[in-house]
Amino acid sequence: MTRVTDFKKTLGRIPLEGLGVYVHVPFCRVRCRFCAFYMERPGADRVQAFMDGVAHELHLYAHALGLRRIPVQTIYFGGGTPTTLTSQQLILILNNIRYWFAVEDDAELSIEVHPGTVTPESLGTLRQAGFTRLSVGVQSFDRNELRELGGRMFGGGVGQAIAWARSAGFTDISLDLMYGFPGHSMESWQRTLDEALALSPTHLSCYAYTLEEGSPFHREIVQGKGSTPGQEFQVTLEERAIERLVAAGFERYEISNYCRPGYACRHNMRYWQVRPYLGLGPSAQSCLGHIRFGNVADLEGYADSLKRGALPMDEITCLSPDQVDRERVIWGLRMLSGVPVRMKATEQKAAFLQTIHRLGEEGLLRVEGQGRVRLTDLGIRYADTVAVALL
Ligand code: SF4
Repeated sequence: MTRVTDFKKTLGRIPLEGLGVYVHVPFCRVRCRFCAFYMERPGADRVQAFMDGVAHELHLYAHALGLRRIPVQTIYFGGGTPTTLTSQQLILILNNIRYWFAVEDDAELSIEVHPGTVTPESLGTLRQAGFTRLSVGVQSFDRNELRELGGRMFGGGVGQAIAWARSAGFTDISLDLMYGFPGHSMESWQRTLDEALALSPTHLSCYAYTLEEGSPFHREIVQGKGSTPGQEFQVTLEERAIERLVAAGFERYEISNYCRPGYACRHNMRYWQVRPYLGLGPSAQSCLGHIRFGNVADLEGYADSLKRGALPMDEITCLSPDQVDRERVIWGLRMLSGVPVRMKATEQKAAFLQTIHRLGEEGLLRVEGQGRVRLTDLGIRYADTVAVALL
């Protein structure tokens, strides 16, 4: 655990441009079979420990670290399943953030919701409290696939939840879909895309399934049951999504994200632009200036540490100016508009530019005017390889 005074020294100058705030609500009722994220089952004691922890954490950042009244442009409640908490608990956290920080009037306030955990009343309360954007976890509209994916089986309830959300006044609604998981087929992916579009979302996230170590799917594979889908098939599914969504008027603005004009997720853009964000809650990650840090992925340890007045961090990394510049390019390349390469003239810069040149010759990157680089179609497919080469 990290003493506040030590961290204050490491942090040095406070970033003045403002923050995105991420609240990690770690509760899920059931684990999805593809998921290896840190999660806890909700229970009265655990929820209380979490609520107290977030309140202490905010107080420490605001008071002891001097972030009081810092401007906040975006807030994102993710998880886990944030809506396993009551609307009142979620609003208590939101109001606490507003109390300590200067949340701007036009801030984007997003929350992940799952259809089985919302009602017309709870959505109305969240909208009235100021949430502006919903991100709905769908994965698939096929009931059999949802059963296979385990955890939440809400495909059938998505339409109803969205109708309630619209009645409550939400106009910015994103759907999360997944493709290329075991047993997935092109036919069902097309049906899922069609059903998603029929609900007229403003934003869609389409994530390729990855086999996560520690997930139930992974355990089955280790035991010789189940199979992993081929990468080529995933590429075909992705191509179908691009074709279908672009034809429907969506812009692919990030490798996995599509939006109607003007509806890119401002909070997630901060991650790709490497602008400051502060994560609250167990396992939440933060980026302040040249410092990267993460909270412990353990609710008990998180809450205990905060009760003692210590920050619940388990790792802090201080980047050199050169590493920050590289990170900006690596994350920025996830955006399809690309990123300008801005670095001080150093030896490292020369080596970095050489790598960019080589990746360009291999057809993975395109260098455009004013030193802007972007991934080619081939580069998008091998984005992880490009990122490793640029590290
Ligand atoms: S709801 Fe999200 S965090 Fe919870 S188990 Fe499913 S995928 Fe994992």
